[in-house]
Amino acid sequence: MKFSISTKGFTDIINITPQVSEIVEKSKIKNGICLISCPGSTCGITTIEYEEGLIRDLRRVLEKIAPMSENYEHCKKWGDCNGYAHVRSALIKPFLTVPIEDGKLVLGTWQQIALIDFDNRPREREIMVKVIST
Ligand code: ZN
Repeated sequence: MKFSISTKGFTDIINITPQVSEIVEKSKIKNGICLISCPGSTCGITTIEYEEGLIRDLRRVLEKIAPMSENYEHCKKWGDCNGYAHVRSALIKPFLTVPIEDGKLVLGTWQQIALIDFDNRPREREIMVKVIST
């Protein structure tokens, strides 16, 4: 199954838990694993307590690790100058696996699945969800 998300880019962090949960429920699979993937080299998928403060904290920390303003070799090669976005994507990774029990994603009370679009422009992202019975 797939669904699309419009992002603003620039480390836009979006809660995609409702869309993923809906796909898991529709699959009727009671026990298994759910793979969530954003095909692309400038996006990430992770989990976070999705609240404003932490969203800002995560952005701030990622800016320290891979600053947007730094000079990246990638910019010399392609001229698209989104080296920071590729580095962040490589660190966070663009996929995530979550267990399924009793037909539901096993997540902590305050744990949500977040898509992060690091690219330096708005994007239309296609998220792929694979639900596998175990
Ligand atoms: Zn690039």
